[in-house]
Amino acid sequence: MKEESKIVTNTATNGSPLEDPTKKYFKPPFKEQTQPWPGLASKMSPVPDHGEKSYVGSGRLTGRKVLITGGDSGIGRAAAIAYAREGADVAINYLPEEEPDAKEVIELIKKEGRKAIAIPGDIRAEEFCEKLVKEAVKGLGGLDILVNNAGRQQSHQSILELSTEQFDWTMKTNIYAPFWITKAALPHLKPGSSIIVTTSVQATDPSPDLFDYAQTKAANTSFVRSMAKQLGPKGIRVNGVSPGPIWTVLQVTGGSTQEKVKQFGKETPLGRPGQPAELASIYVQLAANDASYSTGQIYGAAGGSGQP
Ligand code: NAD
Ligand code: MG
Repeated sequence: MKEESKIVTNTATNGSPLEDPTKKYFKPPFKEQTQPWPGLASKMSPVPDHGEKSYVGSGRLTGRKVLITGGDSGIGRAAAIAYAREGADVAINYLPEEEPDAKEVIELIKKEGRKAIAIPGDIRAEEFCEKLVKEAVKGLGGLDILVNNAGRQQSHQSILELSTEQFDWTMKTNIYAPFWITKAALPHLKPGSSIIVTTSVQATDPSPDLFDYAQTKAANTSFVRSMAKQLGPKGIRVNGVSPGPIWTVLQVTGGSTQEKVKQFGKETPLGRPGQPAELASIYVQLAANDASYSTGQIYGAAGGSGQP
């Protein structure tokens, strides 16, 4: 075989060399670590990859106006960076305690020459959810893509340790907030717009210590399937992303036990946790015009284990 054709065989379509997914990122064991909730991605060890240095856009979402909840860190941050690099203006919501993470994301969006709107606040209140959408629409000059991504996950070994207050907290964040935000956003969404929800493999394969959280993720999956049917005739697509173990601050702020954190992602066929950056292209694809026949779908990213 000639050297030239070897190069062609061994390159991906964008010209970058093949990457072995088992060796692409750090693997367990990880060191024990906890942070007070909601935590900061920048304080994790190792720091997650949200695509800050790696995501390359190609104008797939030029001029789109996006609102992402939980856009300061983790999966939402990776989506925010990717959307900005694809040419979209982006508003992010997060909690006031997460300002340092949010500031970094805002800077990265601005660096792409896109509008970056920071809207801190607690989505457990309906009034704030309405205000959030209003401010995003005002700041962006409209809305085309809504990403319901914020989430609350706390590990409890037994239902007996799970208080009504904790249960309610999880339900309010993961189920009520997407309901309130979507309701407020809908009047602004034109045909061609997209709603994307971050669900989880927990929706179909719940862990014993995530009793409340897993139920909310099953609800998120059902949200996608039902809402897609409701909004299909209006030309608005609704899809979900179902991650497996992803290296984010949610896991080290009560989301997982320390035993789980130390071996995080080891049980997957790829032998490591996913990085938020590895999900970014899914959020882009689901929002892009060329995914026009995909609605009501759940797209998995779980390193080979779990079902969406
Ligand atoms: P993350 O902690 O980086 O992001 C979650 C975000 O939710 C926080 O940054 C915070 O801004 C937001 N949030 C939580 N409560 C809020 C509230 N009351 N008001 C406003 N914002 C609030 O962690 P992540 O893992 O990137 O989580 C993003 C989504 O991914 C969540 O829905 C989570 O359930 C889902 N998910 C994560 C994993 C994983 O392994 N990390 C796996 C499956 C699904
Ligand atoms: Mg955060």
